Amino acid sequence: MDNRRNFIKKVIAAGTLASVGVSLPLTLPAAPQKGRASLNLSFQEGIAPGKSLNEKFDYMEKLGIVGFEPGGGGLANRVSEIKQALNGRNIKVSAICAGFSGWLIAEDPEKRRQCMESTKEILAAGSELGSVGMILVPGFNGQQPSLQMPGAREILLEQLRELAEYARQRNTAVILEPLNRGEAWFLRLLADAAAMCREVDSPGLTCLGDFWHMTREETSDRGAFISAGKYLGYVHMASRKRRSMPGEDGEADNYIDGFKGLKEIGYQGYVSFECGTKGKREETVPAAVKLLREQWKRA
Ligand code: MG
Repeated sequence: MDNRRNFIKKVIAAGTLASVGVSLPLTLPAAPQKGRASLNLSFQEGIAPGKSLNEKFDYMEKLGIVGFEPGGGGLANRVSEIKQALNGRNIKVSAICAGFSGWLIAEDPEKRRQCMESTKEILAAGSELGSVGMILVPGFNGQQPSLQMPGAREILLEQLRELAEYARQRNTAVILEPLNRGEAWFLRLLADAAAMCREVDSPGLTCLGDFWHMTREETSDRGAFISAGKYLGYVHMASRKRRSMPGEDGEADNYIDGFKGLKEIGYQGYVSFECGTKGKREETVPAAVKLLREQWKRA
C-alpha cells in the first residue's frame, strides 16, 4: 500500500514537472535514509574529568555519553575493573583503541606475527567487554622497514581475513583506521579502507572515519562517509586545527557536511572523542557535546 502511494506521488510529481518542460527518468533515485541515523557519543578514557573510572562515568552519564573507548594496552587485565565500573550504567564499551605490538605491513615476518597475536588478545578481551571492535592501523610512518605496494596490500588482506574471522566468531570486529600523511603513508583515505573491507567481505572487518585525519586528507566529509557506506564501523571526533575539543578551533569546527553523510548512510555507530583540550576540561567538554548535538540537528 505504501509503495503504491509513493508510486502515485512520484507519478504526480513527474507529471507536474513534465508540464513545465522537465523530463525525469522513469525510476527516481532512492530518497536519503534520513531519520534512521543517531548520534551516539563516546569518550576515550582521557576525555572526561575525574580521578577514577567511576568519577569519569558519573560525569559522562550526566552529559548523556553512551560509549567508552579504552586503550587496548593491557586490556585483558582490566576486563573485570571496567565491567564493574560500567555495571548498572547507561554506558557501554564502544571500541578498543589499538594497543597492539608490531605491525601488519612489516617486512619482518616476526613483527607481523607479533601484531597478529597481540591483536587477537585484545580482540578477545574487547569481545568480553562487548565492544563493537578494535581499532587497527596497518603501519605508521615510523614503523620501518615496511613492505611496499602492491605486495603490501595483498599480505595485509591475507592477515585481515584471518583477524576478521577471529573477530567475527567473537561478535566483534577489526576497525581499520586511515590516518593523515603526517602519521601514515599507507592508508589515508576512508574509501581505500572501505575497499579493503569489501574485499575481505566479513562483518569482522569495518573501517573508521576520524574527522581529524579527514580534515587533511579527504576532499569531502560527506563524500568520504558515503564512500565507506555499510563498511563504516566507527567515527573519531576532534577539533579541526589542533585536535582539541570540538569548538576550540572556532569556525573551523564544522561537522555538518560529515553529519549529513552519516545520516544518509543511516549510521548508528559511535562518534568517539579522541582529542586533547587547551582549556578547562569542565568547560570545554560540555561545550563540545552541546556543539555536536546542535550541528547534528542542523545536518
Ligand atoms: Mg583516530
